[in-house]
Amino acid sequence: IGARSGVLYREVGWPCRMLLLLNPRSGKGHALSLFTSHVQHMLNEAGIRFTLIVTKQQNHARDLVREADLSQWDVLVIMSGDGLLFEVVNGLMEREDWEDAIQTPLGILPGGSGNALAASIHRYSGFQPVSGEQLLVSCSFMLCKGVVSRMDLTSVCMGSSRRLFSFLSLAWGFVADVDIESEKYRHMGAARFTMGTLVRLASLRVYQGRLAYLPAQESSLSPSVTAPPSATHTDMSPELQPSTLGFSSMRHSVGNSQSLGHTLHDSCNSNNSYKAERRDTCSVSSHGPPDSLLVPLDQPVPSTWTVVQEESFVLVLAMYQSHLAEDLVGAPSSALEDGIIHLIYVKAGISRSALLRLFLAMEKGTHLATSCPHVVYVKVRALRLEPYSPKGTITVDGELVDYGPVQAQIHSGLARLIAS
Ligand code: ADP
Ligand code: MG
Repeated sequence: IGARSGVLYREVGWPCRMLLLLNPRSGKGHALSLFTSHVQHMLNEAGIRFTLIVTKQQNHARDLVREADLSQWDVLVIMSGDGLLFEVVNGLMEREDWEDAIQTPLGILPGGSGNALAASIHRYSGFQPVSGEQLLVSCSFMLCKGVVSRMDLTSVCMGSSRRLFSFLSLAWGFVADVDIESEKYRHMGAARFTMGTLVRLASLRVYQGRLAYLPAQESSLSPSVTAPPSATHTDMSPELQPSTLGFSSMRHSVGNSQSLGHTLHDSCNSNNSYKAERRDTCSVSSHGPPDSLLVPLDQPVPSTWTVVQEESFVLVLAMYQSHLAEDLVGAPSSALEDGIIHLIYVKAGISRSALLRLFLAMEKGTHLATSCPHVVYVKVRALRLEPYSPKGTITVDGELVDYGPVQAQIHSGLARLIAS
């Protein structure tokens, strides 16, 4: 144990054995050549021994880490967008030994079109914003340094199905629609979200549902939650129809390997604080920590929760890291392990131009400082969303999930990530 850059770290495993999962279809489809041209020599020079597995199809990585002998690996790294890490996190949490498995240090190399986590850790390091190949080089360098930090995960419970674990975002409305609709602009890379946003702005709509949340204690700076005079526009006049901008990511072998030695540093204490005490909560899955803040979806939310008065929204977005996409700083004050869900919702009635301004400001992360009366930002620990319409889109970490009532709670520092 020692101190470096003011943080405690622990050296784990030497030489470092890295499993690198790469999605060849991510982004514009160039992840493998980007790996060869930008990353491979850095790993070699850093003395990192890696085994590269190119995924063959969606859920290949998820199945692989669910069954893998994790004692063979000191770190699991993905090169893709956020969707492949979503597979890895959930594969780990589906294991009988999830409590140990989720302690495996993870790493991310941006090779996709939705590289929000990579952009977030770059930001947390205090660097000037970069994108594309520069972001890849920055994240490769972080990987070579090997400083391990804790990262929050949010448990997302859907009515019938089992729960999911999310490291980035939960979205409904405009953002979720753009996430999915922009798949067809995949050839544009990260710009697909900008394109998707403009398209959806043109067909802006309102989403009906009920939103409730448990405020975080520190949320004194959150704007008043009691709804201002009704902004509920059930029917949208042309100018007031909300449209959205998009960010977020999506979905999507065989390896060679090399060796050398490498050192990982650990900025967290290694105690596992997730002993699974049994409590009567909503936990659908037998795996993962209990959701002590949630009650079953068919019961009313606890009295300590805030129920949002409005029931017409343009978007509801819960984020736990700073970036929604490579160039969208949705939650500028977020940190890797702050134990907070940054909840942003936009009420119906916002004009297209105001919504466009919101997304433009998000490129710099200044959108929450503007006093748009339709935008609410609040820090929470848990939330529940009950859409009224029978069909719709909800995304978790940019991936499409079952549509319907959903609730979520944050678990501070449940995973570990190489960052800084
Ligand atoms: P992007 O940011 O470009 O969308 P992601 O990492 O989010 O990249 O991957 C997109 C989707 O591709 C995810 O749903 C992921 O599960 C899926 N996927 C992973 N490997 C493959 C593959 N070999 N072929 C097709 N899809 C894949
Ligand atoms: Mg993606």
